[in-house]
Amino acid sequence: MFSRIVIRGGLLVDRYGFRREDLAISGADISEVSPRIKPIAGDLEIDAAGGLVMPAFVDPHTHLRTPGGEEAETLATGTRAAALGGYAAVLAMPNTEPALDSPSRITQLLNSAAGLPIKVLASASITRDRRGLELSPFQSLAAVGVRIVTDDGSGLQDAHLMRRALEYCSELGIVVAQHAEVSELFRKGVMNEGELSARLGVNPIPASAEEVMVARDIELARSARARIHFLHLSTARSAELVRRAKEDSIAVTAEVTPHHLTMSEDLLAEYDSLYKVNPPLRTHADIEALWSHLGMGTFDVIGTDHAPHPLWKKQTPLDEAAFGMLGLQHSFVALWSEIPAVLARGQLVAALPNGVRSSLENLDHPGHTFETLAWLWQILSRMSWKPAELLGMGDSFTGEIEPGRLANLVVFDPNKGATVSAESIVSKASNSPYLGKSLQGGIAELIVGGRRLLEDGKLLEEGNWN
Ligand SMILES: [Zn+2]
Repeated sequence: MFSRIVIRGGLLVDRYGFRREDLAISGADISEVSPRIKPIAGDLEIDAAGGLVMPAFVDPHTHLRTPGGEEAETLATGTRAAALGGYAAVLAMPNTEPALDSPSRITQLLNSAAGLPIKVLASASITRDRRGLELSPFQSLAAVGVRIVTDDGSGLQDAHLMRRALEYCSELGIVVAQHAEVSELFRKGVMNEGELSARLGVNPIPASAEEVMVARDIELARSARARIHFLHLSTARSAELVRRAKEDSIAVTAEVTPHHLTMSEDLLAEYDSLYKVNPPLRTHADIEALWSHLGMGTFDVIGTDHAPHPLWKKQTPLDEAAFGMLGLQHSFVALWSEIPAVLARGQLVAALPNGVRSSLENLDHPGHTFETLAWLWQILSRMSWKPAELLGMGDSFTGEIEPGRLANLVVFDPNKGATVSAESIVSKASNSPYLGKSLQGGIAELIVGGRRLLEDGKLLEEGNWN
């Protein structure tokens, strides 16, 4: 057994900015960070030259399909996919069969996941069985560690119940996370409403199905003086509503997904159900607006909405196919690959903390442009310490690469690139929108609580994932 892990030659990126330093890990913690660490006998040395060393990721939106949907994903396969994507922790969504609406079901899930190499947190449903009729027992859910409640999969329609949920949960320190969707506007929709849906003759989902509920819930949160979190916002207008609410000092936070940042409705032109997702892929103008809002701080977190489905639910006519796509394994790499297109549109990061900005300005030969690394920092913050804050993970995920901090780290190799093959997908399901696509960069190493889980992009500790 080695005594330390020493990571050398990489560019460190954390919540305070960029610096070129080596680091050593002893036990579960980072023990040393300095410009040059000489490995000694017994150290395990990881060469990170040309790579970025960053806090590991936290996904605030994962469908692990357990219990009841194990045909599509299990705790073991879902967390494997997460590890390959650079995640040290994921939040399991409660739209399972049965729904996670009671302390015993939450405890059962957490116990089943306790031995896995990465951390699984659980959210609970806002309403009993996600039926939108009766609130879940928030107090006893809080007692077993629930920090987020959501009826994700559908929106909570009843405004009165939503108001009550906001009031009770704010007293308990629980975040209410809304899947914003007005069912009367959504109807039997399949894809974004617009010219393309009309041409294809497919039932449309108007942008207003999302925006009307965002507007309603902002007002409910304001009047209740409560906190609200919006999952997977997909339209320019939704983001704008959140930006204005923040300006009004309403306690609102919001999530955006990698697929809404990188894919447009055009992918449905051939009726390919792989790209059927809820909320639907939108227009190029929406994508541009979502990046602008990411760059100005409107979005607090990037969540994958990793949604595995068995083939038979996806390989059907578009109308009948299930909503959702895989995300965990390729989210960061997909976003990194998108940065050149964002910069080609002339989109620059608007809001960068001063310390981060000056660390970038003072960086020698970073090998990437200032703007590329500014976007990288924005993406990283929304995938790592910001979701950890949302989930109340406290000291274990501070986003600081400093001695004494728990060693939850990713080494990213920006120069690697690969075409995503079917064999490389480790989810039980195969509905990945990245299949066959060439992506730039790769997650080379993952260290969680001082344990090395990835080596050169390959999973270690296979036995612990059974
Ligand atoms: Zn959802």
